Amino acid sequence: MRQKPNILKLFEALDGRMTFTKDDLENFDKFKRGFEAEVWADKRFEKYGWLIIKSLTFHLDGEYACQIDTIIITGDAIILYEIKYYSRKSTDRGDRIQYFSGDEENPNGPDFKHPRLQLKEATIKFKRLLTKLGISTENLKTFVMFTHKDFVLYNMKEWSFDLIFHSEVDSHIDELATSTYRPNAESYRIYNLLKAQDHDTSETMPSAPKYNYEMLRKVVKCPECGGVIREVPEKTQKVICPHCSQKLNLNDITKKALDDYQVLFKETPTIEKLYEWCGGMFSKMRCYRAILASRQ
Ligand SMILES: [Zn+2]
Repeated sequence: MRQKPNILKLFEALDGRMTFTKDDLENFDKFKRGFEAEVWADKRFEKYGWLIIKSLTFHLDGEYACQIDTIIITGDAIILYEIKYYSRKSTDRGDRIQYFSGDEENPNGPDFKHPRLQLKEATIKFKRLLTKLGISTENLKTFVMFTHKDFVLYNMKEWSFDLIFHSEVDSHIDELATSTYRPNAESYRIYNLLKAQDHDTSETMPSAPKYNYEMLRKVVKCPECGGVIREVPEKTQKVICPHCSQKLNLNDITKKALDDYQVLFKETPTIEKLYEWCGGMFSKMRCYRAILASRQ
């Protein structure tokens, strides 16, 4: 399973507990869709028994250098993928990509750096990492994969085989499966060397909203869908989520509240604090048990 990025966990824990700004909402959406796209791609790769590094954040010269979404290691190749979730019609503007407005090109629409350039930059840094680790860069292949079927790029300035669109994903992977060898001892060596370079990114989250305990709403949320649960009838063990209709155990809801607290404040609350954090919805005994269970 791919680990959810810390920044996405943070946004999810804040969701429903504070009012997001427009920028926050855009960032939240970007992280959510980015993660979904990566998981979508993982499912396609996993069938083949390749070694897969699901997200590698590495440093060079002691500083953050780059985050790569997916690296596949076969018996004879290292393949780097930038996975993109874009889902709208767009125009290729050379160094940038610009979204349409509906079905129309829009010269004033939102635009962003062309993923081809992102791939180029990531490749340069990744090659430096490989060289530093004494791994040959000769069999490195690099691609951008677009996972959404509605993403279309019009007016492409240059045709390149390193861009893989939704409709080409299956044939690209089939082709990879027939043209590469199964992982061998050397592949495992490379995999382990690279994995050891992965840096946790929890300390640097520039797009995180500003928050503190006092300003956040004290509510509990569904562990399945994240929706806020406003009412828990007394003397009940189960409650139906009003958002996703899942039957939920009260202990699981308390655990979710505790997990969210830990994501946001990097510490375990006291029983009093957790009781308050849950908006007084659950007994202190239940809060105590949740804290106890989390320590085991
Ligand atoms: Zn739910």
